[in-house]
Amino acid sequence: MSANVKNDQDFGEKPTETRDTDHYLEEYTTGFVDKWDDLIDWDSRAKSEGTFFIEELKKRGAKRVLDVAAGTGFHSVQLIEAGFDVVTADGSPEMLVKAFENGRSRGHILRTVQADWRMLNRDIHGHYDAVVCLGNSFTHLFNEHDRRKALAEFYAALRHDGVLILDQRNYDTILDHGYSSKHTYYYCGDNVQVEPAHVDEGLARFQYRFPDGSEYFLNMFPLRKAYVRRLMREVGFQKIDTYGDFQETYREADPDFFIHVADKT
Ligand code: SAM
Repeated sequence: MSANVKNDQDFGEKPTETRDTDHYLEEYTTGFVDKWDDLIDWDSRAKSEGTFFIEELKKRGAKRVLDVAAGTGFHSVQLIEAGFDVVTADGSPEMLVKAFENGRSRGHILRTVQADWRMLNRDIHGHYDAVVCLGNSFTHLFNEHDRRKALAEFYAALRHDGVLILDQRNYDTILDHGYSSKHTYYYCGDNVQVEPAHVDEGLARFQYRFPDGSEYFLNMFPLRKAYVRRLMREVGFQKIDTYGDFQETYREADPDFFIHVADKT
């Protein structure tokens, strides 16, 4: 990183030893959040996702949607504009501030709630037709207890026939075959260079390089697809369909992202 570009993240002396669920709050600093959102082109992201999520929700007649990993608000805004009644939640206050600003600049007042997934139902009231947890967010949970607790909280926030839509990077390929740079991060466009700085079975530390020379990192847990599906089943979801890059059929190693659509009934 060039000397005059400040990185406001703090991973301590040994960054690859930071494997902590609570650390996401330190990782999404104002610096990273601003930079990220300046560079991510919402229109091209919308184009690459198409109407996949909207169609899955409409198929089920969903109306009330809880976006539990709102980040800077991309999906909340998309879903509001598609006519859904959306509550915008995230554990990070920095993210929610940015999401609110982004919503306002597009003519919407987002209903934001700061809520950590592990205690979601303390802060979120009522039941939803759908919970969405998108943009490779679930990867921030570093131990199985937290993952089970978060999934159980998502389950409890849903109506009896609700659906959870949760996506993740294809870590199986990275763990088993290494990272190929031809695999683009589907919402980054060409402005951000993304690659793993360190990968083992317990950590995928990704580096994000921006055109001004600044670098930021995220420490994430490399979730295997079959493992996530198993946890969802064990928490009570009855039917889990997993798509690869929004397609129903795919070669296991090909997709960058998996999208799990988990129904309660
Ligand atoms: N969904 C957004 C998107 O696609 O642009 C943001 C994705 S960002 C990779 C992950 C988000 O998950 C961050 O906004 C972070 O604050 C949130 N997050 C991570 N762990 C969380 C937790 N335990 N509880 C609530 N939010 C969490």
